[in-house]
Amino acid sequence: MIKRLIDRLMGQPSEKMSSPLRISFDEHNIDVDHISPCASRTIATLHQEGHEAYVVGGAVRDLLLGFVPKDFDVVTDATPEEVRRIFRNSRIIGRRFRLVHVYCGRDMVEVSTFRAPHEASNSKDRKGRLLRDNTFGSINEDAIRRDFTVNALFYDPRSKEVLDFCGGYVDTQKNLLRIIGAPVQRYREDPVRMLRAIRLSEKLSLTIDSKTKSPFKKQAGLLDGVPTARLYDEFIKVVKSGSLASAVEQIVAFGFHSALFKKLDEVKARSKEGDFLRLVYKKTDERINSGKSVSPAFLFAAVFWPEVNKRWKYVESDPKYMGALVRAIDEASIGLSQTFIPKRLIADIRDIWYLQGRLLNRRGKKPTQVLRHTKFRAGYDFLELRGIAGEVPEELVDWWTRFQDIEPEDRESWLEKNTKLGGAEPKKRVRRRPRKKRNIEISPDQ
Ligand code: ATP
Ligand code: MG
Repeated sequence: MIKRLIDRLMGQPSEKMSSPLRISFDEHNIDVDHISPCASRTIATLHQEGHEAYVVGGAVRDLLLGFVPKDFDVVTDATPEEVRRIFRNSRIIGRRFRLVHVYCGRDMVEVSTFRAPHEASNSKDRKGRLLRDNTFGSINEDAIRRDFTVNALFYDPRSKEVLDFCGGYVDTQKNLLRIIGAPVQRYREDPVRMLRAIRLSEKLSLTIDSKTKSPFKKQAGLLDGVPTARLYDEFIKVVKSGSLASAVEQIVAFGFHSALFKKLDEVKARSKEGDFLRLVYKKTDERINSGKSVSPAFLFAAVFWPEVNKRWKYVESDPKYMGALVRAIDEASIGLSQTFIPKRLIADIRDIWYLQGRLLNRRGKKPTQVLRHTKFRAGYDFLELRGIAGEVPEELVDWWTRFQDIEPEDRESWLEKNTKLGGAEPKKRVRRRPRKKRNIEISPDQ
């Protein structure tokens, strides 16, 4: 009785929740055919072996909200070792969360074991952050250790029932994203939940419940303690959500950008840089929402481009503009290496920037050489965005749009006719000067 009262005051789901709300097919209408065959088969096999098994998490949430799930997670009372023994084509993965990947040909489902909430596992650091999360538990314990109520719904394909321990079903009907338990404690355990709230609410058009949202600004600093690799993974999920533009506005509004990178703040400014970034986010969303891929290097090149651009300040008639660009790139790269951007992307980002200089030169054989650059497409797409933003003349972008479509055998004659169009043609007077030795980075195709 007293525990129940304390739980209610703390916003914790109480023991009363141990018997779930059972929502029948007539009410929820989830079509069993919308469950992936691999998830259905995996669950059926676990049932045959005498285990409990459900579809859980994002897939149930998405089906109830009318979205197509991107993957299916299964949860069971079988331990990872038992699951591994049941499915020949499976393997155990993960350290913080041990789970099993079960393969059905090319398809795969993630099978996890019911886990106990964090209080039960003695694995937090001094700040209350979770280090390990592997204590197995019952289904209702598994529900309350999840992040949001709408993510804690279990679907049983056999009975076609949805099991709800935390009030998530009603929240799906209200389009409400609500944290399970006491918000601040849940963010201390795992600050990434705050970023997940932004991403899921933007992607699925959910309203974030006021108690869930109210600690965000004050707790934003918790994100500083999250390993950069995890922040990067979460940011990439935001990029791939198709709602980057609105998510960045929210991330900045709550102050989460300090842990990601401060540059995101520029969308707030009514400046040229802010406009350019807004355009980049909008275009990224358009690509994702029309089923195209986006390259993280391209996006980061754009976010940090103002850093290069303000240092570059080229004058087209000055043949030293490439040297100035390389210096600007070197300086901006120092800032880049202090962010969570993985080192492996930095070379690609620099190539995209470098090509902004090379695309200015439309003389002689240069354009044909640039076309062969491995990052030409990204460099050209980047130039196109700069054209839309009014940073380079549209004529330059049109020229490259036309040139890349010319058949290889016709390029030479096309260039003869079109080489005089604007661009970075050095003045003859300057070319006659003896060349100073310059420390310019040479790209492999030069
Ligand atoms: P998406 O559509 O992006 O995959 P998702 O909710 O399925 O969204 P996953 O990262 O696949 O996200 O996580 C699967 C489930 O695991 C979630 O629905 C939630 O129940 C639980 N979960 C994920 N991250 C956390 C977290 N940080 N804290 C608690 N539970 C989590
Ligand atoms: Mg998922």
